[in-house]
Amino acid sequence: MSKKVLVLGEAREGALRNVSFEAIAAAKTVSGGGEVVGLLVGDAVQSLAEEMIQYGADRVVTVEHPHLKHYTSDGYGQAFMAVYEQEKPEAVIFGHTANGKDLSPKIASKLGTGLISDVTAIEGEGDDALFVRPIYSGKAFEKVKNKEDLLFFSIRPNNIAPLEKDAGRSGEATSVSVDITNLRTIIKDVVRKSTEGVDLSEAKVVVAGGRGVKSADGFKPLEELANLLGGAVGASRGACDADYCDYSLQIGQTGKVVTPDLYIAAGISGAIQHMAGMSNSKVIVAINKDPEANIFKVADYGIVGDLFEVIPMMIEEIKKVKTN
Ligand code: FAD
Repeated sequence: MSKKVLVLGEAREGALRNVSFEAIAAAKTVSGGGEVVGLLVGDAVQSLAEEMIQYGADRVVTVEHPHLKHYTSDGYGQAFMAVYEQEKPEAVIFGHTANGKDLSPKIASKLGTGLISDVTAIEGEGDDALFVRPIYSGKAFEKVKNKEDLLFFSIRPNNIAPLEKDAGRSGEATSVSVDITNLRTIIKDVVRKSTEGVDLSEAKVVVAGGRGVKSADGFKPLEELANLLGGAVGASRGACDADYCDYSLQIGQTGKVVTPDLYIAAGISGAIQHMAGMSNSKVIVAINKDPEANIFKVADYGIVGDLFEVIPMMIEEIKKVKTN
C-alpha cells in the first residue's frame, strides 16, 4: 500500500541539516510510491523548501512564527500537530537528533502510537520494511516491523544515504499559519560557546581525545589533525570530566552519538559507555599506549604508541599527501 509520508526537516543557522535529506531518502523507501511531504518549522524557513524538493520531497509545508526561531518542544509540537491534522499522513519521519529525541516521543504519545527510534538502516521497502536499530548501548541490533496504523520512526544522522540532489526538480511549497500559544518557554537568544568548525554529530571525520590527552593544550594536535581532515574534535567523558574540553564534545551513552566515515580515538580506553556513541563509525583508528586497551577490540586499525608522537607524524604525512 502506498503511504503519504511527512518528513520533519531540520535547519540550523539558516541551512538544512543533512539528516533532513537522509530522512527524505528513508521516506522514499517506505512510501511505496506515495507522496513525500517535507515539513519545515522556524521563523524564516520558506527559502529552504526548494532544497528539500531537490533532494526528493514532492512538496513542502512550512510553518513560520517568531516564536519558532529556536526549538522548543511546545512550539514545534504545536506546529507539527497542526500540519499533521491537515495532511493526515500514514507515516512520519524525524531525525534522531537532539530536537528529534525530545519531540518524537512526545508526539508519539499525543498520537497514541508507537515510535521506532534511532533507526540506522531499513531493510526491504514499503509495508515489508524492517527497521534496524541498535540496542544494549550498541552491542546488538534488532530488526523491528511496524504494526501500528501510523508508521512513526526517527533516523540516526549519517547512516541512511541521501538521494542525489536534482537541481531541476520542482514542487509546491505552501505555508500554514499556526497560532502558537501558551508556550511555557520562549527562547530569546542562544549564545554558542564556539561557532567555528564542523558540527560533531554530522562530521565525516571525528578526532576524539580521552584522558590520555592529559590537558586542554593536549587537544591542540587533535584539533590540527581534525582541521586537516575537514573533521570535528570529540572527546570521552574522561577528558570532559578532567576539564580538558567542553562537555559539548562528549561522545557516548550520555553524550553525542556519531557515525562518521573515520573515527580516530586518541588516548581513550574504550569504556562501553564511550563505545555506545561511536562503535558504528565506518572506520575506527585507535591510538593508545596500552596494547590491552579495550578500544582495540572495535578498531579497524590500531596504533600502539604515544599519541603525542603518533598524531604529529600523521599530520606531517597528511600534509605531504595534500601538497603532492
Ligand atoms: P581512561 O579510561 O582513563 O583511559 C585513558 C586511556 O589513555 C588509557 O587507555 C591509556 O592507556 C591511554 N593513554 C594515556 N596516555 C596516553 C598517551 N600519551 N598516548 C596514547 N594513549 C595514552 N564515557 C564516555 O566517554 N562517554 C559517555 O557518554 C559516558 N557515559 C557514562 C555514563 C555512565 C552512567 C557512566 C557510569 C560512565 C560513563 N562514561 C562515559 C565514563 C566511562 O565509563 C569511562 O570512565 C570514560 O569513557 C573513560 O574515559 P577515557 O577513556 O578518556 O579515560
